[in-house]
Amino acid sequence: MNILFFELEGWERPYLEKRLPAGHAVDYYNHKVTGADAQKLAGCDILSTFIFSQVNAEILRLAPALKLVATRSTGYDHIDCAAAKKNGIQVSNVPEYGSNTVAEHTFALLLALSRRVIPAYTRTRAGAFDTSGLRGFDLRGKLLGVVGTGNIGLHVIRMATSFGMRVIAYDPFPRKSLADILNFEYVPFDALISESDVITLHCPATEENQHMVRAESIAKMKRGVVLINTSRGALVNTHDLLVALENKHVAAAGLDVLEGEHYIKEDVQLLKDANRAQLLAAIETHKLLARENVIVTPHNAFNSEEAVQRIVTTTVENINTFIATGKSANPVA
Ligand code: NAD
Repeated sequence: MNILFFELEGWERPYLEKRLPAGHAVDYYNHKVTGADAQKLAGCDILSTFIFSQVNAEILRLAPALKLVATRSTGYDHIDCAAAKKNGIQVSNVPEYGSNTVAEHTFALLLALSRRVIPAYTRTRAGAFDTSGLRGFDLRGKLLGVVGTGNIGLHVIRMATSFGMRVIAYDPFPRKSLADILNFEYVPFDALISESDVITLHCPATEENQHMVRAESIAKMKRGVVLINTSRGALVNTHDLLVALENKHVAAAGLDVLEGEHYIKEDVQLLKDANRAQLLAAIETHKLLARENVIVTPHNAFNSEEAVQRIVTTTVENINTFIATGKSANPVA
């Protein structure tokens, strides 16, 4: 097999070299895969990327021998799974590597906002020790709305209740027995967004739920609500969130993911590829980054020592199982 890894960090290569079976041609690259990799893709059987590579129909077309895309992530919305299926290409992901890790980051964002950690830090670094303007709010007693009660959402709920928060949740596939054990209540989406003091998103991005947070849904939210998104940027309409932050309907936002974040990483790519709507979205995202009541982290919620180790371990399992049996472990399409 000809196996290509993209978006690798330095430490991953020796780890992979030790664990992949001998007798296969394996190439390791740090950059994300693009059309410029056409030559490399031409003979590729197995392609492994992280989330910043857009594995779209064009990339799949450039890899006529491709049999497996093994993404080193849970989310797979950067892969055109329909095109993969049409071409008989399997797609595997890493379903569980750090649900607690992302949940902990959710609270890192929420606590940074609730206790005004960033302005407090910036000020004290500059030598100012007064507390004016730094008053925060307690989490205890607040109502948290959790959208998506999968692996990450459930860890968030567990952590929230230990802070003394009350929790409601929405999920099209509720797990009612867990609601009793973890002490939360399932409600319809509209009830969740209208009642919650803090809303946190933990569902995958699909065509159906694109912009689930937009002007219409924000209008139903409590004035002063706090929004946390560690899930996917496409769930939130950037323009509508900006307007709501400006008019203070949304008091603050903690965002680990942004619409079009792969463009934000690389301005050159943006100018080359993006259409007018994507350019406008990128400008609005830059406006978000500059706001004082917004904290943005660069899709970093997964990034703990323990979690990244588990990602590579599962990816090796996915690839080795595919090589041995022709079927990947953890298939998503
Ligand atoms: P999961 O599959 O365990 O759970 C997702 C849950 O969302 C499921 O219970 C599903 O029924 C529910 N759901 C689906 N559509 C929904 C909708 N429209 N409204 C409400 N709920 C809906 O996934 P997970 O491991 O908990 O991960 C959740 C998301 O977090 C992933 O899809 C991924 O996009 C994101 N994620 C982000 C990072 C990061 O670094 N920021 C890391 C890992 C995962």
